[in-house]
Amino acid sequence: MTLTIRILLGMLAGILVGVVVQAAGLQEAHWLQIYGINGLLDVGGQVFIRSLQLMVVPLVFVSLVCGASSLGTDSGVGRLGGKTIALYLMTTALAISVALVLALVISPGEGIDKPMDTFVPAAAPEFKQVILDIFPTNPVAAMAAGKMLQVIVFALLLGVALARSGPSGERIRAMFNDLNEVMMKLITMLIQLAPYGVFCLLSVLFSQIGWDRIVKILAYFLTVIAALLIHLTVVYSSILMLLARVNPILFISKVREPMMLAFSSASSGATMPVTLRTVEERIGVDNRVAAFAVPLGATINMDGTAIMQGVATVFIAQVWAIDLSLSQYLLVILTATMASIGTAAVPGVGLITLTMVLSQVGLPVEGIALIIGVDRLLDMMRTAVNVVGDTVVSTTVAVSENMLDRSVLNNPDAGRIIPDNEARGA
Ligand code: ASP
Repeated sequence: MTLTIRILLGMLAGILVGVVVQAAGLQEAHWLQIYGINGLLDVGGQVFIRSLQLMVVPLVFVSLVCGASSLGTDSGVGRLGGKTIALYLMTTALAISVALVLALVISPGEGIDKPMDTFVPAAAPEFKQVILDIFPTNPVAAMAAGKMLQVIVFALLLGVALARSGPSGERIRAMFNDLNEVMMKLITMLIQLAPYGVFCLLSVLFSQIGWDRIVKILAYFLTVIAALLIHLTVVYSSILMLLARVNPILFISKVREPMMLAFSSASSGATMPVTLRTVEERIGVDNRVAAFAVPLGATINMDGTAIMQGVATVFIAQVWAIDLSLSQYLLVILTATMASIGTAAVPGVGLITLTMVLSQVGLPVEGIALIIGVDRLLDMMRTAVNVVGDTVVSTTVAVSENMLDRSVLNNPDAGRIIPDNEARGA
């Protein structure tokens, strides 16, 4: 049985257990809740997430030093960086536009009452600080704190310097290449835990989902899902077909594992190591593109989050009966693109940066109280879209740089993990 199928079975079993536990209506103090759901299963799920997070900093650092050092010149790095960032911004702006249009057509906020609960927004980061935070003062501190953009900047600089350092650079580069191999092996080992990890994560989550809250604002919930699906099927497929000349169905079949992990963990950051492995070994994107584009995308590219923010903005405007002008919608597109850059790749942060968007156009941040209760399930779905967006852009940039190995892409078994073989060391 392939790992993908095992993960899928883990997900389905987790959802089933969660739904049954919820249907059984056990009290918080019931022993099954304390030792089962909040004990064993919660610990199992968190250990799995931690084992993925463990990989993020060392992997990005090692892999990106390899990539940048073999790109050679800094102009190569610059061109690649420019293209990747431009595509990331473009897909995000498209995502919000899809969300705004759909929300305006469906009008999910009509007939919904203003919330009774108050909402105290967490402070959104200041834009100036967001920019300054890209530049590290101390690479070790950046790694220790997991500041991904700072790690990226340092790794890029180190890689470029290695390429320019003659034989000394060559020796260190060879060492980084070896380390990279070892890191990839480690991910391949850890991802074998995924079927059990997603089972634990989803059984805990689905035992806690408030279905009644979802029903109350079902139109909002479904509008976000519809916009996510449209973006996934129409926008990404068009980019893949027109810009990358890649069959979208084949592509999606290759990215199922990171999609499922993103859904289960609601964290594109934790999924990142698996995304990177998939992009390199299942799709065939050269390490020089993947090592830069994937971690950058996991950090700044959040199309699914932007979609939720677009729908939420229209929804809240409708609940408060505030008409937004065309220029305000344009402002929403701009600020939600910025907000998606500033959103950390962990669960639930999209709602915090939504305050930035709402306050830009003068909408009440209390509106978030209306949607916070249904956000987790949407977070899982939008994170899956965030991750697919990273893989689509990485592949498109690789095609434009002639760095996609189509024999890997077209081989259904390339990079596939077959657990039994893996265990035997094959
Ligand atoms: N959970 C999302 C991610 O990790 C971010 C968010 O929308 O809250 O990509």
